[in-house]
Amino acid sequence: MTSDEVVLPVDMKAAKKLRDGYPLLHKELFDPSRHLLKEGTLLRLEDERGRFIARGYFGKQNKGLGWVLTQEEAEPINLAFFTGKLKAALARRSDLYRSTHTTAFRVFNGEGDGIGGLTIDYYDGFYVLTWYSEGIYSFRGPIIEALTNVASYQGIYQKKRFATDGKYVDDKDFVCGQEGEFPLYVKENEMLFAVYLDDGPMTGIFLDQRDVRKQIRDKYARDKRVLNTFSYTGAFSVAAALGGAKQTTSVDLANRSQPRTEEQFLINDIQVEDERIVVMDVFRYFAYARKKELRYDLVILDPPSFARSKKRTFTAAKDYTNLLRDAISVTAKHGVIVASTNASTFDRKKFKRFVAEAFKAEKCSYTIREEYGLPEDFKTSSSYPEGNYLKVLFIERT
Ligand code: SAH
Repeated sequence: MTSDEVVLPVDMKAAKKLRDGYPLLHKELFDPSRHLLKEGTLLRLEDERGRFIARGYFGKQNKGLGWVLTQEEAEPINLAFFTGKLKAALARRSDLYRSTHTTAFRVFNGEGDGIGGLTIDYYDGFYVLTWYSEGIYSFRGPIIEALTNVASYQGIYQKKRFATDGKYVDDKDFVCGQEGEFPLYVKENEMLFAVYLDDGPMTGIFLDQRDVRKQIRDKYARDKRVLNTFSYTGAFSVAAALGGAKQTTSVDLANRSQPRTEEQFLINDIQVEDERIVVMDVFRYFAYARKKELRYDLVILDPPSFARSKKRTFTAAKDYTNLLRDAISVTAKHGVIVASTNASTFDRKKFKRFVAEAFKAEKCSYTIREEYGLPEDFKTSSSYPEGNYLKVLFIERT
């Protein structure tokens, strides 16, 4: 035991789970006094007889209070440890690194790659680290050093997704190397996307939807009237337009979605005037579309798990069924609804129940044509299936 470790005794049941590889340190493992632990404290988990189970760290996230880092008693948490983890993660993505048609992807996916609370994405020469707790952020020194040891890079950026003193820290995102010029154009299956790595928590593209965008472009878009709701920078609309859609309509209530979507069309040689971009609450848009009797052959639903607008709050776990009902009401017969959610508060089975309820309420029949989860680079741990949060269903209205 190293001197700066704190012993955390756990009961038999938790010990078994942890020995089976469960990586999350649940709140229940800690008695209330432990909440006073300093972020980043190394924890030595022991069973009731004082035998070593695992070594982890303390870091508050809404999921839990830290993550297991190793089950090897003799393995210290230091530069060599982080270098090993990062090296293995990069090696697993060697095909993506070699690809000339995809230049943006995830290189390190938290607990799936052995360090919960940290993700690293690659954008054509630039790396973006996202820290999900102050605890993991306290290891930034050796982690960034490890990254610079194993990766060649132009520049490294970071995002902090945690609050200190109840306030989100929004320091400058640039860490080291050369600063990029933004937008930076990255490729994904030959499609171009403009990204901004120094502009808030989101970069302009959600990399976990790569397989879904490709499928929409290659199999679902030709000659279709496409409605893309919660469209953000219009990435799904780009995929559909490049796949030969008759017309795309992108709806998002953020003002910035308009110029950002235009930009994505422009760099992909899509005529902006032929497409529709609507800055509006999607629920209002559905009402408008129904009134005008607009029908779509492909409707994409990819809402955030929680959103507050002027009029209402949307919580995926509570409101997805109604969102689907809205979508069904503007979907043509044999049209397809792409229903996506990244909510980790319900699983795939429950998501399918929402679908069943919505179609029943609308008195329509359907078949699920195919399903997606996270792509391969978003590696998840089999001992922690909750980590595979993405659920995407391609549903045909029959
Ligand atoms: N589907 C997008 C990502 C969506 S991010 C993609 O694949 O890139 C969530 C988006 O939903 C944000 O851009 C936000 O502005 C938008 N949003 C949240 N609530 C909304 C509402 N009620 N109506 C329209 N857009 C909304």
